[in-house]
Amino acid sequence: MGNFNQHRVSVIGLGYVGCVTSVCLSYLRHKVIGVDIDNEKINMLRSGIPPIKEPLLSDYLKLSLKNKYLEATSDLEYAINNTDITFICVCTPSKPDGSCNLSFLTYLINNIGELLKHKSQEHIIILRSTIPPGTTEEFIIPALEKASGKKNNRDFYICFHPEFLREGSATQDFFNPPKYIIGENGNHHAGDKILELLLLSHQQHNIIRTTYKTAELVKYTDNVWHALKVVFANEIGTIASSYSIDSHELMHIFCQDEKLNISPYYLKPGLSYGGSCLPKDLQSMQFLVNNQQLELPVINAISDSNNINLARTYDFIKKHAHGKIGWHGLSFKDNTDDLRNSVNLELISRLNDNSYSISVFDSLINLEAITNEKHDLLENKLSNYKDVFVDDFIKMIDSSDTIVIGHQLAEYRNALLQYPRSLTLIDLTNNSISLNETHHNYHGLFW
Ligand code: NAD
Repeated sequence: MGNFNQHRVSVIGLGYVGCVTSVCLSYLRHKVIGVDIDNEKINMLRSGIPPIKEPLLSDYLKLSLKNKYLEATSDLEYAINNTDITFICVCTPSKPDGSCNLSFLTYLINNIGELLKHKSQEHIIILRSTIPPGTTEEFIIPALEKASGKKNNRDFYICFHPEFLREGSATQDFFNPPKYIIGENGNHHAGDKILELLLLSHQQHNIIRTTYKTAELVKYTDNVWHALKVVFANEIGTIASSYSIDSHELMHIFCQDEKLNISPYYLKPGLSYGGSCLPKDLQSMQFLVNNQQLELPVINAISDSNNINLARTYDFIKKHAHGKIGWHGLSFKDNTDDLRNSVNLELISRLNDNSYSISVFDSLINLEAITNEKHDLLENKLSNYKDVFVDDFIKMIDSSDTIVIGHQLAEYRNALLQYPRSLTLIDLTNNSISLNETHHNYHGLFW
């Protein structure tokens, strides 16, 4: 630790997060002042007893107290005046209506603002409490500026740095979290301080810098995902048990597939799922659930959610489309000619039924050599399919005002980029965002 810079840090709120944060930062040899309104917690910390039970915490606390790297107090003024960096770890519980109760944070932010008014040195604020998207920008920064009469990114710097510790392994998680998320607004000063404090290199692969709002929503997204995983595993376990199948072995096998199951696959917001397997097998599973008289609401809600997403996509297209529509990609996904349960086909069919003028191009679908099965499928969804098909991408855009991108553009990307006439582009693949910066009028689903 040749280049170690000892910092003066305050940690406000000494519950699970704040206790671990203050003890671990002082274990890293920073001078830490922990603040809480609860005197019992302060007294316990002062006497070397962590107010929460966590492996290693007691040892680290004793060491920090021995080295005089950690103080605990209820005096916020003392803490703000004697530190340059403040971690905010106060509680943000749910209100009865489910909304996030920001009253602890509001009270604290106003107090910190008042104290910053009288402070001449810059101050860095690192928010760790979990907060809804928009809170830092729309509430915390304005409140701090108002109470302090000072300016963000000039007199004080603020970043949102969500906490990912798990109770029970919180000290280990503090030093080795799954990721370091830093929400900021283009100014890296506060975020860089976190890296310095935690002795991290900028190059470390799991340091992710993003906007305040994204960082705020990441935290919720992670926890909703964890909750969903638990519920999913329990619902699958319920089905497995009802068939006398070992659910642990089943989920162990499931988790061994890191290519498709435990992976980024199927985790990009975009079109609803379709195709021959997912809808069919989900339906079979729902049948089994009913047959076994099980109550498994998550599995039963999947297809409803998928249909709602389809309806939302349809509305999105209707909102942005004008004139003649050219549709790129008909099959249910790229690089296949499978039309079964194709979301592209379903959306085209709905627009067609609503008298939109549409032409469709799919390089893998050749009307000259179409099978009876495909003919029946097309006829059922798009009785005039022979009139709407075009066999050439350029021909399709020539006759269109709006292009819906239902498949990856791949070799057609350049043709679209160089096409001189300005078109409305509706991108359902979310992979053509670069078209945003062209002369075309781009609308990406979920952008
Ligand atoms: P907690 O309830 O254990 O602790 C919060 C502490 O803040 C309490 O000791 C309280 O007395 C103190 N406090 C409230 N107002 C204060 C004020 N004005 N000044 C000083 N202290 C004040 O909460 P927690 O579990 O540590 O969670 C804190 C935040 O971190 C929450 O937003 C939570 O969602 C988030 N979080 C928690 C965990 C977790 O595992 N517990 C993990 C990640 C994120």
